[in-house]
Amino acid sequence: MKHLILTLSICLGTAVCVTAQKSEYKLGQAETAFTAIDEILRAYRPATEIPLPREMALMSLDQLLHDTDNDNTEPFYSFINNRMLQLLTDLDRKVDKGLRIYKLYNDGFIVKSPKATIAIDLIPGGSAAKPFITDSIVYEIAGRCDALFISHEHADHANLNIAKSFAARGKRVIAPKGLWVGVDPLIQPMELENQEFDVEFEELDLTLHVLPGHQGDIYNNINVVEFHNEGTVAQTGDQWGNADDLMWIDRVHEKYDIDVLMPNCWIDQMRRVIRGFGPKLIITGHENELGEHSIDHREAYWMTIFKMDKMSDLNIPNVLMTWGESYDYRK
Ligand SMILES: [Zn+2]
Ligand SMILES: [Zn+2]
Repeated sequence: MKHLILTLSICLGTAVCVTAQKSEYKLGQAETAFTAIDEILRAYRPATEIPLPREMALMSLDQLLHDTDNDNTEPFYSFINNRMLQLLTDLDRKVDKGLRIYKLYNDGFIVKSPKATIAIDLIPGGSAAKPFITDSIVYEIAGRCDALFISHEHADHANLNIAKSFAARGKRVIAPKGLWVGVDPLIQPMELENQEFDVEFEELDLTLHVLPGHQGDIYNNINVVEFHNEGTVAQTGDQWGNADDLMWIDRVHEKYDIDVLMPNCWIDQMRRVIRGFGPKLIITGHENELGEHSIDHREAYWMTIFKMDKMSDLNIPNVLMTWGESYDYRK
């Protein structure tokens, strides 16, 4: 902030200086707002009913993250890395019963039970040259997890550096067929696709059920993770645009007792998918992806609030979280 005031005070009113002033002014404004948002989110934690200050903080985050002037700026990087540092500390907190679900950038989740901690679609975000989350933090996160599951090959879900950091720490990575073949014995691309199958993790007391979803024509694993005696979560990756899948999605609840559904917030026919999975709780993902999409596909938190409000007649609670936050679920 000192830097901002100094810049403003030495400018003399030229066109270049006006542009610099505007940019410095907006950076200072973003820094102040990100700090306030972080404080409010820590005071008003994720819950099935969103208190007004929390709702306002999430909507303010939408404003900042939909303003491309804030992309790749220092205030944004410090915000997301600070939140990841808070997450790192929190990952050491024990779970006595049930599941603790953490939300990370884009569609990333970490689910922790008393016996295991697994990550799904964990990515650093940003470019390889300048990732949103620093390599050292990512490496620490990998060290606190026991396995990584990848829904599909797109870069906003699958990251080879992260997969390698899991393997380097002796953790298994279950990847879609054809992805990262031969990279490391612990990075295991599936041999099957377009059919349902299970992967047992006896040492973690869990079973991974892979359901054969799609994003258009691209294969997309829906990862159903059954933590024995604690609960079952389902993360849908980028499920979208495949009418045939909806036919079997309609019946998922007949086979699996889903506790927590983590759908991409823009999934096709959200209401039908929720009915098909029949979860007890919904935690959406994929809001505010800062990719090369048009601005509307950054998917604001206010849009998720709007969508989920319209489904209140289903009587299934939902928890809206941002990066680094967690929610404890018990059966
Ligand atoms: Zn995708
Ligand atoms: Zn995606």
